[in-house]
Amino acid sequence: MNTPYDINALREDFPILSRQVYDRPLVYLDNAATTQKPRCVVDAISREYYSVNANVHRGIHYLSQEATRLHEEARETMRSFLNAASTAEIVFTRGTTESINLLATSYGETFLKEGDEVIVSESEHHSNIVPWQLLRDRKGIVLKVIPITDAGELDFDAFEKLFSDRTRLVSLAHVSNVLGTVNPIRRIADMVHAHGAHLMVDAAQSVPHRPVDVAALDCDFLAFSGHKVYGPTGIGVLYGREALLEKMVPYQGGGEMISRVSFAHTTYERLPYKFEAGTPDYVGTHALAVALDYVNGIGMQNIQKHEQMLTAYALEKLSAVPGITIYGHAAEREGVVAFNIEGIHHMDMGTLLDRLGIAIRTGHHCAQPLMQHFGVEGMMRASFALYNTTEEIDALAAGLNRLRQMF
Ligand code: PLP
Repeated sequence: MNTPYDINALREDFPILSRQVYDRPLVYLDNAATTQKPRCVVDAISREYYSVNANVHRGIHYLSQEATRLHEEARETMRSFLNAASTAEIVFTRGTTESINLLATSYGETFLKEGDEVIVSESEHHSNIVPWQLLRDRKGIVLKVIPITDAGELDFDAFEKLFSDRTRLVSLAHVSNVLGTVNPIRRIADMVHAHGAHLMVDAAQSVPHRPVDVAALDCDFLAFSGHKVYGPTGIGVLYGREALLEKMVPYQGGGEMISRVSFAHTTYERLPYKFEAGTPDYVGTHALAVALDYVNGIGMQNIQKHEQMLTAYALEKLSAVPGITIYGHAAEREGVVAFNIEGIHHMDMGTLLDRLGIAIRTGHHCAQPLMQHFGVEGMMRASFALYNTTEEIDALAAGLNRLRQMF
């Protein structure tokens, strides 16, 4: 395996990878759902609880100041990771889902009127569909949908025709969580801005796999989840251009987000705190920063190279399985491969693979409109991370072949 780093040494950083399930070595290929955590991330969590823990931004005492410093240093790590202009543009959330709900609520309340239009695509995760539908119910906005081609790419001709003088926001995944398709965000940003609209990027599946630079992408908003990039669960980021965030009304009210409160009138904190009501997950932010440092230590370009190699290998191996349909064949894709095998229900296959120690995802992948596009109820999905090996893909292909014969 031609990997730009020592994969065996690196796998040692992830204790869970050496466990057995059903007396077989674990083959973990469900990384688009969540990634495993390196020891340094888990250690950072226990170290902070054991020796620093105190609420942030509130105390004058030593521990509170140390916890606040770690929390704000983490914000700087995220800023630099995304190449945002300022830490004022980095809002901590619980993850991509909360980031998009925050945006739909605050952007919607501030900028959208009845009849204004938001555009999403047919291949979005439910997290980038339902918040806009809730906003449609509340405000009477119009939700338009970009169809995809059978290759799994956006249909740009149809996309161009969706714009009108009421288009305000386009919200799209950078990378599809089912097909692995990479959307050309910079090109889309130019299109969207030419129509005087804003662009939101759901980067849940790109931040773990490729360098993401908000300045180079020229997006207005971007969201990602920590747990998909080797960090802890329950922490994520919403990036937003300062000038837009500045105008937007708060999402939730409570402590941390206020400047002054009286019953007659309340004013709000400066950015980004205006959007961070309540005690933040300051342990999570620090641990996520440790995860991003870990990723940077390996080098995002090296990770991408390794995963591209795994994806090409998987496409070749899986294509040879009789009766297989692989969904999507975009020109540019990341390490996600979705498929079905003729005559075998995806859940049955997934359950039997699990008995062989192989963890893949089965079902609708929180993308039911995409399943409707392909006329299926569900799919199997293998998704790769920096620690996966070609041997694990061999195990998947062998498992599929063996089980297929059983059926
Ligand atoms: N968007 C995409 C493309 C995803 O793949 C996911 C998770 O699978 C989400 C959004 C939601 O992420 P979370 O559940 O971490 O909020």
